[in-house]
Amino acid sequence: MKEFTIINCSLVIVSPWEVRKGVKVHVSEGVIDGVGDYESGDILDCEGGVLMPGLVNSHTHTPMSLLRGYKDDLDLHDWLKAMWEKEEKMSKQEMNIGSEISVIEMISSGTTSFVDMYFNPEGVKELSEKYKVRAFAGETFMDSRENPEAVAKRQRSLSPSRYFRPIVNVHSLYTASLDSVRTAYEISKEQDTWVHIHLSETREEVFQIKKRTGKFPIQLLHDSGLIDRIQAVHVGWVTNQELQYLKNATHCPTSNMKLATAGAFPFKEMYTKGTNVTLGTDGAASNNSLDMFREMKTAVLVQRHSYWDLWVKASHVLQASTINGYKLVGVYGGEIKEGMVADMVILDPRKARPLSQERVISNVVYNVTGDAVRKVIVDGNVVYDDEVKERFKTRLDQLYEEGGFNG
Ligand SMILES: [Zn+2]
Repeated sequence: MKEFTIINCSLVIVSPWEVRKGVKVHVSEGVIDGVGDYESGDILDCEGGVLMPGLVNSHTHTPMSLLRGYKDDLDLHDWLKAMWEKEEKMSKQEMNIGSEISVIEMISSGTTSFVDMYFNPEGVKELSEKYKVRAFAGETFMDSRENPEAVAKRQRSLSPSRYFRPIVNVHSLYTASLDSVRTAYEISKEQDTWVHIHLSETREEVFQIKKRTGKFPIQLLHDSGLIDRIQAVHVGWVTNQELQYLKNATHCPTSNMKLATAGAFPFKEMYTKGTNVTLGTDGAASNNSLDMFREMKTAVLVQRHSYWDLWVKASHVLQASTINGYKLVGVYGGEIKEGMVADMVILDPRKARPLSQERVISNVVYNVTGDAVRKVIVDGNVVYDDEVKERFKTRLDQLYEEGGFNG
């Protein structure tokens, strides 16, 4: 459908601060071009559902759906060793199978864009075009796994496509040298993108980096002139002084708790200092779900639990998963507003009850899960509905069979 109007929505969550009733949303050429009375083109019937912006999963490792449930009870550094052992033997084909499983799961639970760190960006690119979902992925600098020159060469050959854009991944400062981060930074300039890195995740990491360089991780990247293109993921162990340097930071609350990394992601401090705070599930081996609705709820809860403070609210985590996510990936979207990309989700109204303008954002963050998603629209295309759901079920069965992980 090139031009269509979404009608019969019970409520439209226009943004984390505004819910409208009785409005139609007009879409043309993949862009929202009106919210109000105007109706033109084909009709997409919302059937009383709740319309909201699509969600951005700002940090994941898509092939890790194949490692879901494997080594659930190790802390991060022991867990990583176990993962690397498996990952060393994982073929490109297996990675692509894992990525496809994750892409299907993410779309089905309302994710319209995702940021991926792994070793199969070309596979992810193909999947993003096949499923029409926005993907941001790249090669990953991890010196312990591969020579950085080889990684740089492949990264430089990655090109964007309609739904795919390259990013440059660095696993972490404890698995890649500062020189590798520099190379990643240079390539990110050439490709007009950013550097996605696990940063200040554990005490052990902070201790190692401080011992090696005399500086805390974020301070080190700042003093090396590398911080401005960084998307820092986790940021659980950070000094107050370092906070001011971060332009983009991603909170993965479930993964942090599950891997017992402790620390605390300073959501309120970063938000108020102007950091673009986003939210991610992390991979399916450390979450183990890729459902961004669950992640939003967990994010509020862990903040309140860690800080004994009610400041972080449902609207903040919805903002982190919509507007801020789109800001991170450089796409004008995240609200249901004229001129923004038509990336939207329709929820089953029965799952968001009691349905009222005042409570719907609360219900979406604290009670809805990905199971409530009925339709997903990306770039003005309906990429998920009842019919697609059936196809996805069959495809998932095939993929698990092919992956050899079927029990
Ligand atoms: Zn991660």
